[in-house]
Amino acid sequence: MLRGSPERELAAWWEAEAVAATKAQAAKEQVRVDPGAAGEPERKAGEEQPKEPAPAPPCAAEEGDARIPPRPPPTLPVSLAKPEPVSGLCPHGKSRIKGRSCKRSSGQPDEYCSLRPVTVDSSKARTSLDALKISIRQLKWKEFPFGRRLPCDIYWHGVSFHDNDIFSGQVNKFPGMTEMVRKITLSRAVRIMQNLFPEEYNFYPRSWILPDEFQLFVAQVRMVKDGDPSWKPTFIVKPDSGCQGDGIYLIKDPSDIRLSGTLQSRPAVVQEYICKPLLIDKLKFDIRLYVLLKSLEPLEIYIAKDGLSRFCTEPYQEPSPKNLHHIFMHLTNYSLNIHSGNFIHSDSTSTGSKRTFSSILYRLSSKGVDIKKVWSDIISLVIKTVIALTPELKVFYQSDIPAGRPGPTCFQILGFDILLMKNLKPILLEVNANPSMRIEHEQELSPGVFENVPSLVDEEVKVAVIRDTLRLMDPLKKKRESQSQLLGKSLASKENAPHSDLASASQGNANPDAHLPSICLKQVFPKYAKQFNYLRLVDRMANLFIRFLGIKGTMKLGPTGFRTFIRNCKLSSSSLSMAAADILYIDITRRWNSMTVDQRDSGMCLQAFVEAFFYLAQRKFKMLPLHEQVASLIDLCEYHLSLLDEKRLVCGRSGTSSASRLQPSGTPQEAPPPAPTAEGRPQPCTDGAHKVSHSRHTVS
Ligand code: ADP
Repeated sequence: MLRGSPERELAAWWEAEAVAATKAQAAKEQVRVDPGAAGEPERKAGEEQPKEPAPAPPCAAEEGDARIPPRPPPTLPVSLAKPEPVSGLCPHGKSRIKGRSCKRSSGQPDEYCSLRPVTVDSSKARTSLDALKISIRQLKWKEFPFGRRLPCDIYWHGVSFHDNDIFSGQVNKFPGMTEMVRKITLSRAVRIMQNLFPEEYNFYPRSWILPDEFQLFVAQVRMVKDGDPSWKPTFIVKPDSGCQGDGIYLIKDPSDIRLSGTLQSRPAVVQEYICKPLLIDKLKFDIRLYVLLKSLEPLEIYIAKDGLSRFCTEPYQEPSPKNLHHIFMHLTNYSLNIHSGNFIHSDSTSTGSKRTFSSILYRLSSKGVDIKKVWSDIISLVIKTVIALTPELKVFYQSDIPAGRPGPTCFQILGFDILLMKNLKPILLEVNANPSMRIEHEQELSPGVFENVPSLVDEEVKVAVIRDTLRLMDPLKKKRESQSQLLGKSLASKENAPHSDLASASQGNANPDAHLPSICLKQVFPKYAKQFNYLRLVDRMANLFIRFLGIKGTMKLGPTGFRTFIRNCKLSSSSLSMAAADILYIDITRRWNSMTVDQRDSGMCLQAFVEAFFYLAQRKFKMLPLHEQVASLIDLCEYHLSLLDEKRLVCGRSGTSSASRLQPSGTPQEAPPPAPTAEGRPQPCTDGAHKVSHSRHTVS
């Protein structure tokens, strides 16, 4: 890798954080006796630590998408329900100070904290409830477990944005996220980026959408095989709506696809299978990383410093017809492997079938692996994936929360599933909109008697992610900080403070988060915006698309909207008549509508618009590579639209109409054509938008 490259810069920044986490792991390793210590030769599966006496029973905790119907909230035994949540914190969320009880000693700090606590509605939190409760307790915020008649500051939803009707505050889901990360939608979004930037997006396996692209899949595989007869690929077929490994199978040849009636009714993605994953103890494993999308506009992304690694339970062999159906060898899903007799629950975060990612990094670094490079590649993968998802998310967002209408602001924790290849290159497997936040698993106490017990590794990672997400979203943070500073100053000015408690209260209040560990979520965007902004072409296309949508709440562009786009961006010419633009619209829209399940409203979806845009860009800027063609066309469109906006402003100022009442120049295309003047001539301001504004606002 080149010195000074974005990856190198990222690595340098991450070094301090990830390496620190790995060092912390190292410290833990020293106090724990870990038979599988790093640097030792790889051993047989299950040899790394003493086996649990009994194989694990079916388990409540899972790592997949929380789309599966959740089980009733677990009832933890009282003694276990209050585990030590984070090092340095007592179960009450107070910092542990040697020799002191965690109960309130003087009451001083609270006395000075007159600001009301942040309120959280947890009534729809479902399976994340336990981790959420611990987090709220640590933050000393106020939970409303059954909802509240008055608005809350934060709403925590277990499944989707629509779990509750909310009109204010903040909610932990974006509208449309569940749809966006489904296997087919994600594959389509990444494919658009792969067309534009093939090198940058080579972290996602080549994928085809079934049944639509079955013939294409067959043809492409045949073509490569003809060119290279030694190529013996394996493919993995994944149902679109599946999760937790449900319905997944491996094939060696396209003809092995189960093209029964079910495939027609159950669309799927078929993907190149990564045959050479990195192994630890001869086992395949994947990484679950937690990513916070804090805001869509402006884009803000955070990554958790630690994640989970989920292990297979049967030693890995490269796929062959004999082992293709060995799910415990090929699929890393926790929900599947828990059923294997080899599954190992461990009290340690660095052994067993589920471990912290930092423990894996520690192990790799002790073998000489450049873990800074691993981290920087992972950060790039995450940022690029979010950049692929955001354009359509914006379309969903404006549809559910149209500008100018009351609505909550959104944030969301995403679960990124990543596979490390043998050469340490990270590969994106999938993104979960509802990563499991369960912090307990089922244990068989005696034959047939199961109990939910806390899972140390889950708790360590997940409570930190939820708590620190809340800290970042804290709506009262600024107020609390300024109040604390004021208080700190006033107490400090009392030179001879008689009580040391008072002095320490002043110090404690100077930083209201002093009792909490440092935040585990690190900002990667906009921090690295400069390195990645050039990739955001589809985002800019989405802005154009949204501008011409016109009617509030819609997600599809009507024919008039498309015409207005062509006209206002001055894209029609002698070689592209308006009639040709109409035909382009009809052709592409019809094809996309026959492919997509979502038939809510008719018209051109964003992805169809992107296809049309590519076509127009290729026609206009023939000699350039695709991404430059597209970038040039976007520049051109933005330029013409800015001219229109300026013109509109000038006309508005000159009193032709009230600028404040006008919409942006692209938006009102769905309105009737402009009313001609009495003489039948067009009105003075000549762009369509302006004329419509006249007809809307002044002709009445
Ligand atoms: P699900 O949502 O059902 O868990 P995933 O896409 O996560 O579906 O796939 C399930 C598992 O299959 C992954 O955890 C991983 O172990 C394995 N897997 C998925 N895709 C690939 C791939 N392209 N190459 C290798 N293994 C894969």
